[in-house]
Amino acid sequence: MITTINPYTGNVLKEHVPDSADQIETKLKIADKAYKHWRDTDMEFRAQLIRRVGEFLKKNEDEYAKQMTLEMGKPISQSRSELEKCAWLCEYYADKAPEFLKSESFATEYFKSYVSYEPIGVVLAVMPWNYPFWQVMRFIVPALMAGNVGVLKHASSVMGSALLLEQLFSDAGFPEGCFTNLTVSSDPIEEVIKNPIIKAVTLTGSKPAGSAVAGTAGSQIKKTVLELGGNNALVVFKDAHIDSAVETCVTARYQNTGQSCIAGKRLLLHEDIYHEFLAKFTDKVKSLKSGNPLDEDTYIGVMAREELAEELEELMHKSVEMGAQFHLGGKRDGAYFQPTILTHVTRHMPVFKEETFGPLIAVSSFTTDDEAIDMINDSDFGLGASLFSQDLERMQKLSPRIDDGAVFINEKVTSHPNLPFGGTGISGYGRELSEFGIREFVNIKTVVVN
Ligand code: NAP
Repeated sequence: MITTINPYTGNVLKEHVPDSADQIETKLKIADKAYKHWRDTDMEFRAQLIRRVGEFLKKNEDEYAKQMTLEMGKPISQSRSELEKCAWLCEYYADKAPEFLKSESFATEYFKSYVSYEPIGVVLAVMPWNYPFWQVMRFIVPALMAGNVGVLKHASSVMGSALLLEQLFSDAGFPEGCFTNLTVSSDPIEEVIKNPIIKAVTLTGSKPAGSAVAGTAGSQIKKTVLELGGNNALVVFKDAHIDSAVETCVTARYQNTGQSCIAGKRLLLHEDIYHEFLAKFTDKVKSLKSGNPLDEDTYIGVMAREELAEELEELMHKSVEMGAQFHLGGKRDGAYFQPTILTHVTRHMPVFKEETFGPLIAVSSFTTDDEAIDMINDSDFGLGASLFSQDLERMQKLSPRIDDGAVFINEKVTSHPNLPFGGTGISGYGRELSEFGIREFVNIKTVVVN
């Protein structure tokens, strides 16, 4: 059984019966059959159905938001924002995909030469629980617009959301097999990847999962895109606009109860503004309302599972033993983790080196731009960094010295439909969203006419 649990109450939500090997095979065959028709549909038709998905997302917002909140503890207002973003993504790709996938001519000695962007078939998506709708939508929407079809293996803890997503695409008019949910744990995934029907895999999740999935896919010469963890730095220079930087940094760390790959996890403060910034930041964090995730005014819910809160607690205590100091919070009650600020954090502590996937921020100081850059890059992850300063020229000059997949100046790192999203190092490879994302799973076909 795949059991889903409400992390706020600890109550069982549902026991899902996992698909058998035969059921998985049948679903894959239906997906393959669907692809053979879907690949020949025109862009206008695809866009029409994707727009309808966007409309259903708005229409069914309350039902979907509640499901996410019950399954993983996300505050309900943030579940709703997630769904609104999904609807925006539908509009975006419905409008833009035809332009992104238009054939391109190249000048050669031949009569004619061009590249056409063609679908590749059935793509498997292995997805995490932290944004149960968004993570799936940012894969499936461009995949369908490109003429592929998708098979989802969602995180076990959000299986109810996965089933709602499957129903959503069916209700919007997509033929059976265009978007298929596998009700499975990770056990059968190796065999699914090896199945010849699966042509490529995208995974959003942890490094161990990424490594296992990419290893299997690599052995079959199947392409992967990996969106893994992050350890983003929020860097506040002495010439930053302090009040607005405080607002942005608090959201960057504590939204989604800190469970976001692109959350700012390391707060690096110039020593001249250290005390002023920390005092204002602390006041703001104290004002965040913890509570029942179903209450409209709750900002900090519970973490998605109690053991995730325990893991975070362990990283925190190890760092405190090494000299970090509690500035705020530090207590856990079941899956609830108090918004926490740790100061006197040094580079060798777990909260600096590892990904803290919850409402805890690690605060350090620096004195020069060079030292700040060195600290940002002192990480195996490379998802993104935020720089706060009023000197936009200087910040843009520092940007190429940062190894990450994104640099946001005076803004938190965010996923935006119109911008490529992805990391370097152990944060993964490949890009999602924008023109870059839709081109990850296409056959870039060279055609020469002479
Ligand atoms: P996870 O444990 O890696 O799970 C992600 C998905 O992979 C789940 O569907 C999981 O299934 C599956 N999985 C786990 N081990 C597997 C294996 N050996 N073979 C095949 N599938 C496997 O990660 P999570 O706890 O759900 O999510 C948190 C992590 O995701 C964090 O590190 C976070 O930074 C990262 N993340 C990255 C991004 C990004 O865009 N870069 C976005 C969000 C989250 P089960 O649930 O059944 O185990």
